Amino acid sequence: MKFTAEHEALRKTVRDFVEKEINPHCDEWEEAGEFPIHDIFKKLGNLGLLGIQKPEEYGGMGLDYSYNLVAAEELGTAHCGGVPLAIGVQTDMCTPAISRFGSDELKRTFLAPAIAGDMVGCIGVSEVAAGSDVAGMKTTAKQDGDDYVINGSKMWITNSPRADFICLLANTSDDKPHKNKSLIVVPMNTPGISFSPHLNKLGMRSSETAQIFFDDVRVPQRYRIGAEGTGFMMQMLQFQEERMWGAANVIKALELCISKTIEYCRERKTFGQPLINNQVIHFRLAELQTEVEALRALTYQACELHVEGKDVTKLASMAKLKAGRLGREVTDSCLQYWGGNGYMWENPLSRAFRDVRLVSIGGGADEIMLGIICKMMGTLPGKQRD
Ligand SMILES: Cc1cc2nc3c(=O)[nH]c(=O)nc-3n(C[C@H](O)[C@H](O)[C@H](O)COP(=O)(O)OP(=O)(O)OC[C@H]3O[C@@H](n4cnc5c(N)ncnc54)[C@H](O)[C@@H]3O)c2cc1C
Repeated sequence: MKFTAEHEALRKTVRDFVEKEINPHCDEWEEAGEFPIHDIFKKLGNLGLLGIQKPEEYGGMGLDYSYNLVAAEELGTAHCGGVPLAIGVQTDMCTPAISRFGSDELKRTFLAPAIAGDMVGCIGVSEVAAGSDVAGMKTTAKQDGDDYVINGSKMWITNSPRADFICLLANTSDDKPHKNKSLIVVPMNTPGISFSPHLNKLGMRSSETAQIFFDDVRVPQRYRIGAEGTGFMMQMLQFQEERMWGAANVIKALELCISKTIEYCRERKTFGQPLINNQVIHFRLAELQTEVEALRALTYQACELHVEGKDVTKLASMAKLKAGRLGREVTDSCLQYWGGNGYMWENPLSRAFRDVRLVSIGGGADEIMLGIICKMMGTLPGKQRD
C-alpha cells in the first residue's frame, strides 16, 4: 500500500476527531451504555467521514477503499471499541449494498442522509437461532400488493435502538436458502417494529444493542435493494467490507495496548527492577508487535486487491480471523503485565480485553472464517469452489 498525502490528511482528520470528540467522553459513555450517536454522526458527516468511499452524487467523497481502511485504522485509537463499532456499522456494514445495488430513490432517501450524518443505520442479519448459519434465518417478507409484510425478529443488532433505518435480510420466497433472500431497507419508525431492552454486553458497552421484532411491518417493495432473491449474495459481498473494516480497526487498538503496557512496565517495579527489564516481558511485547505488523500487512494486501477489483473473500476472511485471534492474544498478554490493576473494570487493558473479544464472534465467527478459507483452499469436504 502506498499512502498519498491525501491518505495522510484523512488520517489526521480522523485522529483529531477521535482525540477531540470521542476520547474525552469514552469513560462517561461506557458507563452510560450509550453515546449521543446522532450528534457524533452529524459531526462525522460534516467532515465527510461517513461517506469516504461513497459516490459524490449522494454526498460521498468518491474515494477508493484504501481511504476507508485508513479511517478504520485511525478509529482504532479510540479509548473504547463501542463508538468505532457504531461508526463501522454505518459506513461499512449497513450501507455498502445500498450504495452498490440500490435504486436512486433508496440512495436519495437513505444513503445520502446516512452519509450526511442525518440518519443512523443498522444491519439486520443475525437471528436468535441463526447467527453463523445465515442461510437458516426465518424472518419473512411476503408480497402483498406493492408492499412487503415483514414478520420475524433480528438479534444483537448494533445501533438499533437509535437507528432510523435497518438494512434487513429477509426471506422473500420459499426457494432454496441461498436464493430466497432479499435485502430490504426498512425505516425504523414503521408501525409494527419493537425492541427488547438494551442487551447487557461483556464489552463494547458504549454501543447500543437490542433485539428487534417485526410484527406485520409493511414497507414498499421498491425499498428492496436490487433484484428479489439476490440478498444472500449481496450480504456476502457486504461482509467483505465489514471484515476488512474489522481487521483494520483492530490494528492501532492493539498497538495502543502494547505501547500503554510498555509505559506501565517501565514505571512499575518488582524486585527493585522495572518490569520491562524482564526479558520474558520485553521479548513478549516485541513478539506481539511483530504479529500486529503481520496483521497490518495482511489487511493492507486484502485492501489493495479489493481496490483493484479482485475477489478478496479469502484474504478478508484471513485478516478477520487473524484480527480476532491476535486481539485476544495481545489483550490477554498485556493485561497479565498490569497485574491486579489490569483486572480492574476501568483499566484500559481490561476494557480492550472485553471489547476485542467480539472480533472473533461478530460478523462471522473464527470458525466461519476458517470454513471460508478451507472452501477456497479446496480442503472443505463436499462441493469445491471452481
Ligand atoms: C455485540 C454484538 C454486536 C452484534 N451486532 C450485530 C449486528 O449489528 N447485526 C447482525 O446481524 N448481527 C450482529 N451480531 C451477531 C453476530 O454476528 C453473531 O453473534 C455471530 O455471527 C455468531 O452467531 P451466533 O451468536 O448465533 O453463534 P452460533 O452460530 O450459535 O455459533 C456459536 C459458536 O459456535 C462456533 N461455530 C458455529 N458454527 C460452526 C461451525 N460450522 N463449525 C465450527 N464451529 C462453529 C463458533 O465459535 C461460534 O461462535 C452482533 C453480536 C454481538 C455479540
